[in-house]
Amino acid sequence: MKLNKIDHIGIAVKDIKEVSKFYKDVFDCQTSEEMEVPERKLRIAFTEISGVKLEFLMPTDKESTVAKFIEKRGEGIHHICFEVDDIEKMVSELKNKGVELVDEKPRLGVEGNKIIFLQPKSAYGVLIELKER
Ligand code: ZN
Repeated sequence: MKLNKIDHIGIAVKDIKEVSKFYKDVFDCQTSEEMEVPERKLRIAFTEISGVKLEFLMPTDKESTVAKFIEKRGEGIHHICFEVDDIEKMVSELKNKGVELVDEKPRLGVEGNKIIFLQPKSAYGVLIELKER
């Protein structure tokens, strides 16, 4: 079972409009429309560079896990998302290998794909998201 590619890199930000303007002004990258993710208390937007996206994550509530992340570690890289072919199969393999997951089973991400997060302490301090193609 393998990782196909990096799908996106999640970046925790305090102000999504400011970061979008930064990427536009400095790198001429166009950012997508902002989307609300109420269940995760986030507003997100994407910009894409040669097939790899940056996902800007702005907390809309101080109880959001991303708000807590920013409080503790400041703005910056929050997670890396890898694309996989069969997430259910991957999850059962991860469980067999003793890798801890944040969720028990995959759920639907904002783009409608099945996603799951691994516990950072199981992956050398990196929050890994897996996303089914
Ligand atoms: Zn993500």
